[in-house]
Amino acid sequence: MAVIGIIGGGQLGMMIAQEARLLGAETAVLDLSEDAPAFSVCDRRVVAPSFADAESLERLCAMSDVVTYEFENIPADVLAPLAGKYNIKQGVSQLLASQDRLTEKRNAEAGGLRCGGYVKVDTPEELRAGVARFGYPCILKSRRLGYDGHGQKVLRSEADLADAERMLAVPSILEEFVDFDYEASVIMVADGDNVISFPVGQNIHRDGILDLSIVPAPQMDEALQRRMVAESEAFMRRCGYEGILAIEYFVCGDRVLFNEMAPRPHNSGHYTIEGCTTNQFRELCRYLLGMPLEEPRLVAPTVMKNILGRDMKAAEELRRMAPEGVHVHLYGKSEARRLRKMGHVTMVGVTPEEYRGRWESFFAENEC
Ligand code: AMP
Repeated sequence: MAVIGIIGGGQLGMMIAQEARLLGAETAVLDLSEDAPAFSVCDRRVVAPSFADAESLERLCAMSDVVTYEFENIPADVLAPLAGKYNIKQGVSQLLASQDRLTEKRNAEAGGLRCGGYVKVDTPEELRAGVARFGYPCILKSRRLGYDGHGQKVLRSEADLADAERMLAVPSILEEFVDFDYEASVIMVADGDNVISFPVGQNIHRDGILDLSIVPAPQMDEALQRRMVAESEAFMRRCGYEGILAIEYFVCGDRVLFNEMAPRPHNSGHYTIEGCTTNQFRELCRYLLGMPLEEPRLVAPTVMKNILGRDMKAAEELRRMAPEGVHVHLYGKSEARRLRKMGHVTMVGVTPEEYRGRWESFFAENEC
């Protein structure tokens, strides 16, 4: 039986491992925490002192036929030598590009995508020059290790400059504030020149964290969806990327601007588990196992809501109610901090209007 090695044992690693098993593969997972969600479903475990620990990563690679990753911040200098020795099938180039917001945007532009305005800032002078260029509001972001709104600050006036300057202890970029109509994402899996794409989702963030993915994207006409997918696939081919890639965009009228990418399964693709004929985790596994990819189709209009710590009461209540088409996934994390991702709920056969009419108030009333 083939063994898929997964670096990272969070919910994404767990869902990769679940699909791998359905395809007849075993999994080995590396994580730092003894109670990582993926450890409950994998066949072999490596508990590492850090994701930079070369010895632990090598142990995982050595027990695996093929290796993948569930997050992009694995130190490149540790992973690159292993990529020469073991079958890290996606390679590391997309990982490197996505680790640094500046490289990521330059790479997107080189691959034919458009970005909103951005400028590298390392000094207070560069920060002021950037603010003069974009005006207020604008957003300062750390180039590395930012996620879900961490490591970023919206500058609204001169009064925010002093705080912003303190953030320059790490390499940063300043971005123009994109006055988007909505956000959308595309998830693709490529095997050589063959690229499959999941239906475009419209994404709504709250507190900098994904709250809802709605499919089909309600505000986006079909021609624009087709164009977004075609441009994303062309980008992937041009870069020679293989395996899975998620791209998040800002949409302003018919302008589509690249925000960021992730060479791993993506939170906005969780809806594919029940909402599509095949899902992002399964297609990643098929790619890893050398199986032919399957073109996904949407089963019915679908809404995915993330369950954060504050939504646990609602999720448990939904489990009891068990409404038709509503699938509750809880990741088994022990500590439920208010803004921590604890699970997600996928509502298949639910339109945005139905969600707003019935479920929005349900979640609001049960929030803690
Ligand atoms: P990020 O981690 O960069 O994806 O940022 C998280 C969320 O903050 C995005 O999904 C947007 O909702 C918002 N955001 C980030 N960058 C910008 C920007 N340049 N303009 C407007 N909103 C942004």
